Amino acid sequence: MIFNRQLNRQPRWLKLGLIAVWAAILTLGLSDVPGFAQSANEVWQIGTEPTFPPFEMQDEASGELIGFDVELMNALGEAAGRDIEFVSLPFDGLIPALQSNTIDAAISGMTITAERAQTIDFSRPYFEAGLAIAVREGADDIASFEDLEGKRIAVQIGTTGAEQANAVAGASVSTFDNAPLALQELVNGRVDAVVNDLPATLYAVNEANLQGVEIVGELITEEYYGIAIPKNSEVLGEMNIALGQIIEDGTYADIYRKWFVSDPPILPQVAPALSAAVTSSFNWGRLFQNLIQGAGVTLMLTAFSFFFGLIGGSLVAFSLISPFKPLRLLCRIYVDFFRGTPMLVQLFMIYFGLPALF
Ligand code: GLN
Repeated sequence: MIFNRQLNRQPRWLKLGLIAVWAAILTLGLSDVPGFAQSANEVWQIGTEPTFPPFEMQDEASGELIGFDVELMNALGEAAGRDIEFVSLPFDGLIPALQSNTIDAAISGMTITAERAQTIDFSRPYFEAGLAIAVREGADDIASFEDLEGKRIAVQIGTTGAEQANAVAGASVSTFDNAPLALQELVNGRVDAVVNDLPATLYAVNEANLQGVEIVGELITEEYYGIAIPKNSEVLGEMNIALGQIIEDGTYADIYRKWFVSDPPILPQVAPALSAAVTSSFNWGRLFQNLIQGAGVTLMLTAFSFFFGLIGGSLVAFSLISPFKPLRLLCRIYVDFFRGTPMLVQLFMIYFGLPALF
């Protein structure tokens, strides 16, 4: 067969080299695939976006991660007999990391919402919060959510605050990677308001000494934070048991009092956002819309790869007949490398292997 003959034409050293390269990538890559990890999983890898004081932040002096969520998670680890290792991620990267099982759980002041609960699981609620509006001191034209119409609003990307701001008619919404950046934009006068979680904004104004900002329209929503966990993970049960335990034995109340100088409220077992008929929230229209959108992206990527592939392929083809021997050899290796390994293996290696290399 033509294919076999082509393979047999590869020099032996080239074949051995190919095997060695793939083996190295495979070894590195597989250590990231759940179930292939070499050591037993005694550690919980916990994702967090570390610029959300007082829940998670870096201690200025020591550079260590501190905050209510951090202490709570360490206490949960102790109760569950797990070591905790925090992994810093952007807020809008936490759910994808959970979906790909890169982390065991995420604690990041994340609100339990029905929409998020379609792709990830949540522990029982561990904090009662809600959104609030912050404006520059003395700006008396904004007193409630309705007054935000047509205004410039800053929010943190991927948050419930961003979702709420996007629903305001005629408002221009600018998104930032974290809440302090959004608040800074307000101080600088480039936006009229920030929609953000009340406890975080309160902390910024009272403790972090953010000057010239005041809070209006307190608690425009009722939200509960939950620990986010991949679907079908045994971590969910362990986390809920540990949470129940530290609420029961007073550890939770101690941590709460330390950070919020008041007694914790009684928390519900299930967040109201989830108790109201979650199953009926499956939306066929939305599903269809997503599929059409996905098809559009696929077509665009195909067009791009066709265009660049044509250019790249022609360059390689010309190099293969060039009089310059090292260039010919290099392109021969490139072609044999990609032709000599199955496409699925290549995809697998690129998906799991490359992230492990960086
Ligand atoms: N509670 C908000 C949310 O879940 C914001 C959380 C955060 O910024 N860390 O969207």
